[in-house]
Amino acid sequence: MQLFSSNFKLGILGGGQLGKMLMYDAKRYDLHTKVMDSNQEAPCAKLADEFIIGDITDYDDVVSFGNKVDIITVEIEKINTDALLFLEKKGKKVFPSARTLKVIQSKSDQKDFYRQHNLPSSRFKNYSNLDELRNNFENDNFEFPFVWKSSRFGYDGKGVKIIKNYDDLNFSFENECLIEEKISIHKELSVIVARNISGEMKCFPVVEMEFNENSNLVEYVMCPANISNDIEKRAMQIAMNTSEKFNMVGLLAVELFLTKEDKILINEVAPRPHNSGHHTIECCMTSQFDQHIRCVLDLPLGETEILIPGIMVNLVGENKVEGNVIYKNINDIFDIPGVFIHIYGKKKSRLNRKMGHITIVNRDIEKAIEIGKKIKKEIKVIS
Ligand code: ADP
Repeated sequence: MQLFSSNFKLGILGGGQLGKMLMYDAKRYDLHTKVMDSNQEAPCAKLADEFIIGDITDYDDVVSFGNKVDIITVEIEKINTDALLFLEKKGKKVFPSARTLKVIQSKSDQKDFYRQHNLPSSRFKNYSNLDELRNNFENDNFEFPFVWKSSRFGYDGKGVKIIKNYDDLNFSFENECLIEEKISIHKELSVIVARNISGEMKCFPVVEMEFNENSNLVEYVMCPANISNDIEKRAMQIAMNTSEKFNMVGLLAVELFLTKEDKILINEVAPRPHNSGHHTIECCMTSQFDQHIRCVLDLPLGETEILIPGIMVNLVGENKVEGNVIYKNINDIFDIPGVFIHIYGKKKSRLNRKMGHITIVNRDIEKAIEIGKKIKKEIKVIS
């Protein structure tokens, strides 16, 4: 297949900020991109060579989109996997595969997958609904506190609850769910591992994530993580094993818990560019987006080493009522050395919506962290 300056079309399902940043690199290689999203004003809309309005969860929309491109990839998990399976059977290249996406769409199936493949993860139990959980969790040897999760459609901490007593189980929920033993977390780490069609693999340096206590959203990503070489090596090995077991093509972001006893457990994975890899644009030799393109086109992978340490700060909406976005005080940080501002281009801000991010680089990671935390306090995303 002739990839460059030809009739080749890279199809991307989902038109959010991850797709937008993927397209910066696709453009650098002059690849033709075709994107589908249901929102006419999605961040990708103005950048894609072709932008199609369609529903990524709809069988017919996905099949019709897939038929018109050479390679299909995703920037979000919530895709109709039956449609992807049909396209694969017809010989279309779909990365990640329909099978991998289907497993990852369910937290319960992910946990079963880790168990089946001997990948380290917390003890868990799947239930078909909340009633079944209430009647059985004690026999299943779970004690308070434990962590409850909705199997599907949770994101950014929505669909996760810490259950401390019986009263905490007094909510209504009809669908599949699971509980996990509550881990004493020392640090939350992430490794993004890239795997191309030929099976070549490379990890980005391990990063440390700090979450906002109220929203459960990632607030800061620090590169490199403040961990020992031994932990870094073990974390990368777990990420590579996981990518291999999934037979991944593309990026796999592996979110990990480092326990107080220095054990490393997989929390969850995402088969696409990830919020914990945005800093790679400025901090690493190759960005996660460039690397994803290399994977799905079966090109040699880029070097992942750190050029300069950094911290990524998420900019999320703080306004409770949805409205036109204002980035208050953003003009004041343009003159701080090492500051890179990314605005995703979503017109409306609402509470906890990811609207942009800022990466701060510095030879001294402590200095970068200090600037990052100061900036986070000053900039307000409101309407
Ligand atoms: P989401 O997919 O919505 O981001 P996660 O499954 O990653 O949800 O959980 C959100 C957060 O909840 C994690 O980042 C972690 O801080 C906490 N958490 C999740 N599972 C556990 C667990 N088993 N033990 C302790 N804390 C957990």
